[in-house]
Amino acid sequence: MTPFETPETQHVDPNCIFCKIVSGELPSRRIYEDDRAVAFLDIGAWHRGHSLVVPKRHIPDVVSGTSSLPEIAPAVDAVARLLMHRLAADGINLLSSAGQAAGQEVFHLHVHVVPRYADEPGLRSLVNPGGATDDELDSVYRQIQAGA
Ligand code: AMP
Ligand code: ZN
Repeated sequence: MTPFETPETQHVDPNCIFCKIVSGELPSRRIYEDDRAVAFLDIGAWHRGHSLVVPKRHIPDVVSGTSSLPEIAPAVDAVARLLMHRLAADGINLLSSAGQAAGQEVFHLHVHVVPRYADEPGLRSLVNPGGATDDELDSVYRQIQAGA
């Protein structure tokens, strides 16, 4: 039994969209999974390949409950490298917001992993509110999957 396999690890919030994505009740473009974490494409992508890494158990944010970041750190590491490699990105931003004051909208811990490209417009802006179309998301999803 690992330190994470306590009853708390099983905690699911029935009203949480990320818990539903983890369980498969809601669809997602899943790009990575290990025993403690799942990663999928963000439907409102700021930049091509923008992904979210979430713990499998429901934890509201990075400062709630027991130390939660270590259990998803290997997934963040793996996803950042996966996106750099498969999408030929030139850089990566990592971001995790805790609390409404920080702009958090979904209260299940997540780390944004955002590939960045040297030739992209608006290079300095991390949050690109333009989002992405379904076709754009499907296209980048296929590209990430292609090297699997
Ligand atoms: P935050 O503001 O840090 O709480 O970010 C929440 C993120 O979740 C936003 O970037 C949304 O685009 C993303 N998001 C919300 N619902 C979904 C979903 N069903 N699938 C993928 N990403 C989502
Ligand atoms: Zn949840």
